Amino acid sequence: MKKVFFLFGLLHCYTTWAQQPFQSPENIQLIQSDLHTHSVFSDGSVWPDIRIQEALKEGLDLIAITEHLEYQPHQADIPHPDRNRSFELAQGYGQGHKNLHIINGAEITRDMPPGHINAVFIEDANKILQKDSLSGIEAANAQKGFVFWNHPTWDAQRPDGIARLDPFHKYLIDRKLLHGIEVVNELTFSEEAFQLALDNQLTILGTSDIHGLTDWLFDIPNGGHRPTTFVLSRSKKVTDIKNALFEGRTVVWFQDLLLGKEENIQPVLTANLKATTSGYGKENVIVKVELENKSALPMILVYQGPFSFYKNSRTITIPPFQKKQLEIKTQKKRQNLSLPFTVNNVLVGPRQPAQIEFKFALK
Ligand SMILES: [Zn+2]
Ligand SMILES: [Zn+2]
Repeated sequence: MKKVFFLFGLLHCYTTWAQQPFQSPENIQLIQSDLHTHSVFSDGSVWPDIRIQEALKEGLDLIAITEHLEYQPHQADIPHPDRNRSFELAQGYGQGHKNLHIINGAEITRDMPPGHINAVFIEDANKILQKDSLSGIEAANAQKGFVFWNHPTWDAQRPDGIARLDPFHKYLIDRKLLHGIEVVNELTFSEEAFQLALDNQLTILGTSDIHGLTDWLFDIPNGGHRPTTFVLSRSKKVTDIKNALFEGRTVVWFQDLLLGKEENIQPVLTANLKATTSGYGKENVIVKVELENKSALPMILVYQGPFSFYKNSRTITIPPFQKKQLEIKTQKKRQNLSLPFTVNNVLVGPRQPAQIEFKFALK
């Protein structure tokens, strides 16, 4: 009997983590999405049902199937004239799972420029398969698709690994034909792509670009996770999620990093890092504060204020879903205390950590 309870406890922990790596800020739904995945219907190694099973297991809220339109290495074995087929199959496998949105997509697969371009929330992938890349991108826009630049840092297309705009990209951005950019793709993070997103008002994205199994590539059995984009949406409805993407309301979770525009990072950080105090000790002038990390991200904090701590250095790491006690030596009793920190693995710019300040009234 004891053993059974223990097992249930573990299962419960697992589901909580898988479904909710971050607490949603008030009045916001954090939608965990992966907008870039493949199956055997382009150059992936699995049938579309595996993509759906993984997404369900990992607790995603939204997944796009984005096969290469032009690159079809399995076509001799799986001849299919219809570029929507993998999405249709995926949608079938997802039936009955109302918590997972499955949306249609395609990867316009070209040399640089423009490189690889994803279109998601599209109606018909076949119409996006055009002779030239601009016509494909325009067709995706005609379907009101959300269009973004994939792996702009990819060394096969940028041998120095530096993401930069070509005149073609500027043309697309100026005409509002390109709406987002992958700052994170699979196992890569690009500071330059992050800066391009900020400078050009592009939506910041992180995707798995998974071809094989997410378990293997991202070491999920040992606590890893696929890179995902959290959309800060008004509701769980697809139309609201899509609008939020166009509005740039995203944060990206990649390994032990969380990154995004400051206005999106701040509410997520505030909802996931809490502080409480029990005030001064009875016989000393040391304030006790408890910090709580309510997320799956370890938080690396560096204190920026004038005091020192009784036990800790200024750098404090709070593991996922853990609490940490701090004892602050204020030297004389104060009525108010504010504790400013940077969170060094939560980024609001390529080299710019997020900031958070806790304020307390003391007795
Ligand atoms: Zn690609
Ligand atoms: Zn891809």
